[in-house]
Amino acid sequence: MSSIEKNRFGNQVETEIPEDATLAKRPGHKLRTSNKIVDRTKIEDQANGELLNSDELNKGEGQKLEFYAFDDQVGVIRSDEGIIEEAVPNQFTGPSYRNKTERFRFDGHKMMHHLDRVQAWQNGEPFAPIHIDMGLTKFCNTACIYCYAVVQNMTKGLMIGREALLNYIEDCGRLGVRSLGFIGDGEPTLNPALYDATVRAAELNIDTSMATNGLLIDMDRAHDLLKNMSWIRFNLSAGTAEGFQKVHQSKSNNFELLIEKIKALVKIKKENNYNCTLGLQMVLIPECFDQVIAEAKLGAELGVDYFVIKQCSDSEYKEIGINYEDYQSIEDILKQAESYSNDDYVVQVKWNKIGAAKETPLYKNGFRKYDVCYGTPFLLQISGNGKIYPCGPFFNKERFYIGDLHQDSFYDLVKSQRYWDVHNDIANSVDVHKDCAIGCRQDYVNKFLWDLKNPPEHINFI
Ligand code: SF4
Repeated sequence: MSSIEKNRFGNQVETEIPEDATLAKRPGHKLRTSNKIVDRTKIEDQANGELLNSDELNKGEGQKLEFYAFDDQVGVIRSDEGIIEEAVPNQFTGPSYRNKTERFRFDGHKMMHHLDRVQAWQNGEPFAPIHIDMGLTKFCNTACIYCYAVVQNMTKGLMIGREALLNYIEDCGRLGVRSLGFIGDGEPTLNPALYDATVRAAELNIDTSMATNGLLIDMDRAHDLLKNMSWIRFNLSAGTAEGFQKVHQSKSNNFELLIEKIKALVKIKKENNYNCTLGLQMVLIPECFDQVIAEAKLGAELGVDYFVIKQCSDSEYKEIGINYEDYQSIEDILKQAESYSNDDYVVQVKWNKIGAAKETPLYKNGFRKYDVCYGTPFLLQISGNGKIYPCGPFFNKERFYIGDLHQDSFYDLVKSQRYWDVHNDIANSVDVHKDCAIGCRQDYVNKFLWDLKNPPEHINFI
């Protein structure tokens, strides 16, 4: 089941794709491993038929498995007995020096600023998502070797239609959704409705942002983006043209094109006093370790507001072959990169997740510090084809399908029983320790909600 090989860049990669898993027929571009991707729709077919039996599932000692059928999908519910208990690592968090206030909270959550929604949840009342991450397309013009969207079967060539997108933005305004991140399974700038959607969202007091490879930003609409978006993040895991070509599998002259676009956006922003934060994000993999310092310097030269370095999230089958131990070999360089920060430029490493290898074997392999996922109604995710699911790692799992922006009113969906049934199904049935992608987007929010739901004794002794 687990396979260790040297990849085409000479780095060792380990995947955990079951030998008898059905593989996707058109899996998309090559990752750092290969393009061997599990066909997640077929897993359910197998479960429905004869191929899957409980012995083949990853089962904790003494753990009980129960199959649950829904339409043509079969899910597995694991009972808790048998989960191995290990010591919780030291959780001391008190500073022994005066901390600078954080300008951005990259490595955490901001739930305490939305206590009205938290209160509604505690009272068992329905409420609108605080934030929605969404793709605007299901395709891309680059082919990054760490791309999680390939695992999500990105190559279908679909995108959210203009009318559906604009109606959805209106619904978000009516519902009181506070922010939208055009961050998803495809490149957002490939959807021409991006610009009008951003302008309309701002008119409705909804904050917007996007993560983009930046190459196709329409500079004629630059003012619309910079005036109306809270932040734009460039997905760039290289500081040189050679590094760019290797990690993003794009032409090296596209690196120059991107640099020129970022410089122009920084200039327009400064000249017009726009508040939009511009930043670079590196998804750290061994193939770009040699690019960290070059990119830290590049960010300072470009005049962007930040450069953040994050872990690469892998799937439940480790199809991208990420080994957190690899990050330990580069800690000195990451600290050196952070030293390029100054009053106007933040370089920050997401240490909580990059440091996962220092956790006990239990946690570093994906065991969570909470048992139930309560986060999805607060932070929803929508695929670039318009289909709504509670979270990205569960895209295409029909049991958790909520609706489609092309057919359904988002306003009506959020008010519907089906919407809440799906979120409750996640909370009641999903085993976050086994069924979920490592370090999913809702992880920090889940930890906060779990602590709230399971208070210690004597809470008044704060
Ligand atoms: S914990 Fe699991 S179900 Fe919840 S958001 Fe993360 S991946 Fe999805």
